[in-house]
Amino acid sequence: MNSIQRADMAVIGTWRDNIRTDETLARKWFDKHGMTELVNDVVSRCPTKAIMLKETKDVCQGAKISAVAVNDTNSLEIDNGNCVRCMHCINVMTGALGTGVDKGATILMGGKRTLKIGDLMGTVVVPFLPLKNEEDYEALVEIAQKSIDFFAENALEHERTGEMIERIGLINFLEGIGLEIDPSMVSTPRTNPYVRTDGWDDEVAKINARKAAA
Ligand code: SF4
Repeated sequence: MNSIQRADMAVIGTWRDNIRTDETLARKWFDKHGMTELVNDVVSRCPTKAIMLKETKDVCQGAKISAVAVNDTNSLEIDNGNCVRCMHCINVMTGALGTGVDKGATILMGGKRTLKIGDLMGTVVVPFLPLKNEEDYEALVEIAQKSIDFFAENALEHERTGEMIERIGLINFLEGIGLEIDPSMVSTPRTNPYVRTDGWDDEVAKINARKAAA
């Protein structure tokens, strides 16, 4: 949270596969803490309601589903497609639940406390960057280097990265440092009904090509 709110460039560790489960440890946790704590401190505190308590011990793992029995009549089911990797359930049921193994980092730009304009939260510019080998780390350093160079050339005096992005627009910043622009990066709908549509077909073709590749 601190890095999202303060860092010009935040690098936050994450994973992109499913949450891992361990039934022995889940049962042990349940024996010690019970149903009230499971409901009040795990299920209901998931920010995206991705965890469901089920009245069966027969778990059904799926492509995006993690599941684990906690006793002979109940289990937990996690919809990984809706999990935002906040870590809360994993911190509470450590061992019984664990992060996935396909790990990397999410990169955000532009967080800052008050200076020229009010506080800004960082914006996700790379949802997942694998950090497994030397080339991955070089890619991370390259993103940092390009944003420092762009900042040096385009920021006004006393501006921080977030203020520069607010002033010139996120699209111009991303184009400037050579990152792919994704519709998911829209943080608020436009308030001006007039739009320019130059290059529209090219952008639609690019989005469709990315979707087809994914
Ligand atoms: S990590 Fe967070 S968002 Fe994901 S299932 Fe656990 S509590 Fe929910």
